Amino acid sequence: MAWAAPRAGFDVVREQRDVVGAIALPLRQAAAETALIARAADEGLGVVLAGQAHLNQLPVAARGRGFAALPFAQPYPLHVERTRMSATALADYAEAFLDAQLSAGATLATTPAHVCDAELSYGREQDLGLAHATIAAWHERQAWRPPPQRPDAPPRELFAGIAVRGRGLVAGSARGDAAARDGVGGAAARDGVAGAPAGGGAGGAVARGRAGGDVVDRLIELYAPLDVSGYWLTVFDADGSGAQLGAVAELALGLQHATGRPVTVSGIASLHEALLASGVAATCAGGGAAGASFPPKAIDGDEVTGIAVEVFHPAILGTVPPGPHAADALEWLFVRHPCRCGEHPLHEPPRRRRAALRHNAWQLAAEARDATRLVPIIDEQRLAARIGRANAIRRQLALAPLQPGWAAVAAAARTRRAAAADTAMRLDA
Ligand SMILES: [Zn+2]
Repeated sequence: MAWAAPRAGFDVVREQRDVVGAIALPLRQAAAETALIARAADEGLGVVLAGQAHLNQLPVAARGRGFAALPFAQPYPLHVERTRMSATALADYAEAFLDAQLSAGATLATTPAHVCDAELSYGREQDLGLAHATIAAWHERQAWRPPPQRPDAPPRELFAGIAVRGRGLVAGSARGDAAARDGVGGAAARDGVAGAPAGGGAGGAVARGRAGGDVVDRLIELYAPLDVSGYWLTVFDADGSGAQLGAVAELALGLQHATGRPVTVSGIASLHEALLASGVAATCAGGGAAGASFPPKAIDGDEVTGIAVEVFHPAILGTVPPGPHAADALEWLFVRHPCRCGEHPLHEPPRRRRAALRHNAWQLAAEARDATRLVPIIDEQRLAARIGRANAIRRQLALAPLQPGWAAVAAAARTRRAAAADTAMRLDA
């Protein structure tokens, strides 16, 4: 799934169709992108118009361009842990949220999701109430039917929106507390089961055993029974640590396992590739190297021209951060590891903004393709080998190693597969 940042410099509708099944853009910008939305639908691509209900939690002035015009925009900041919506208010909010997406051309709608202060809090309960109300509205209006102007289009789908914070997923678990104490990636082993990936580590702690624990299990229990066709999971403020990314993998893969429905994960920037390799159905990526944060750091910032685009290079599985040696490092990378995207000379980095954006988009698709070539058990090994090589090159260039979350995803997925196989064996016996 490509995040179609407006003016991203590439034609998301035409290109990389083997790995891009849908476009996603903020609903608040949909009014300015009607041509793109119509073209995507004409080409048979899915359209996700992210309602970003969580922006209602911010002061009105901080919600970004276009949000105030949406019918579910609240006139004051919504305090999800304190404000108890009446049943009528809940139903109205849910209907307005659904209507706004469908009337703007979404083919895959979501239920509203807000960012809770802590997991399994009152805010979570209210989000589930909103999900139920949205599902009721969906059925009542038979919203799966294609819109009248496109009678031959496939049925529309409703996904449950789930917003989580990276730290919320691991709060209260031994691993999360250890990670919080030790800082990023400092998670300690809880049960001594070795979880080092084949083909080399990712420069630090690796998730082992149960990464998320109770919070993850409870979220799966709460969301699995919903009558939806999939889940749209947005992770806010993920720190790249093994504990948090292991928990994200457990939640996504656990929901898929429990329901047989696809989970799409957004918000975790380049780490999405590890989730794809481990069997998460889809990720929403593109539009910059930053992950989702709450409150947002720069709400409309990714379209501002003039900000230098960080260039992705597959040999380091990431971008070269700005700094005094960044230009030298980039030149070195492209000389040693030429790029065949066609947007710039093979042995030179893209030098203009447009070429850099197109190079990044081409590489994003190439990485998604590479991550999902065979089956998770093999794709994970290939990615682990690449992580090892990338870290060796990063050391040469004096860049920080890849975050531990890169390897933690595969470790969490392996633990889950082993547990599933164990259960199956016991059921057979
Ligand atoms: Zn290139």
